Amino acid sequence: MRCPFCNNSETKVIDSRLASEGRQVRRRRECLSCSERFTSFEVPTLVMPNVIKRDATREPFDENKLRSGILKSLEKRPVNSEEIEKSIVKILHRIQTLGEREITAKLLGDMVMEELHTLDAVAYVRFASVYRSFQDITEFQAEIQKLQKMSVSPVDKEQISIFDKENK
Ligand SMILES: [Zn+2]
Repeated sequence: MRCPFCNNSETKVIDSRLASEGRQVRRRRECLSCSERFTSFEVPTLVMPNVIKRDATREPFDENKLRSGILKSLEKRPVNSEEIEKSIVKILHRIQTLGEREITAKLLGDMVMEELHTLDAVAYVRFASVYRSFQDITEFQAEIQKLQKMSVSPVDKEQISIFDKENK
């Protein structure tokens, strides 16, 4: 860290302590050139990876995009926003835990699918149909059948079968 007085790059830390209830590190530094003292605050930043898209282009991870994709799938579904937020936080946390500089769009999509799977069966199918852009209808039907075997409420089953018909 450069000295704000003389711009020298050599400084020494003379004191280090936590500030803002541990969210910041406050460091007292002394310049080795002009001996002036100054304080620096360090805040951890969570770096999100770039996303490798299907066409191999990269784009920065976009939380808003993730959120809007999830919300779109859950449109008019009986899921409260707190549950949705929890799922988004869970996905963000998983991405950070990976610690990768780049992740594939597929992996990201799979994480979303997993979360939607636990949130709402209909939203899951909606997302899957767009995200996986099922090449043929057999693949899509297989997914629907898999869902119908799971324990979903009668209402969901009905909605899924409606969805199924629409896509035939
Ligand atoms: Zn200095």
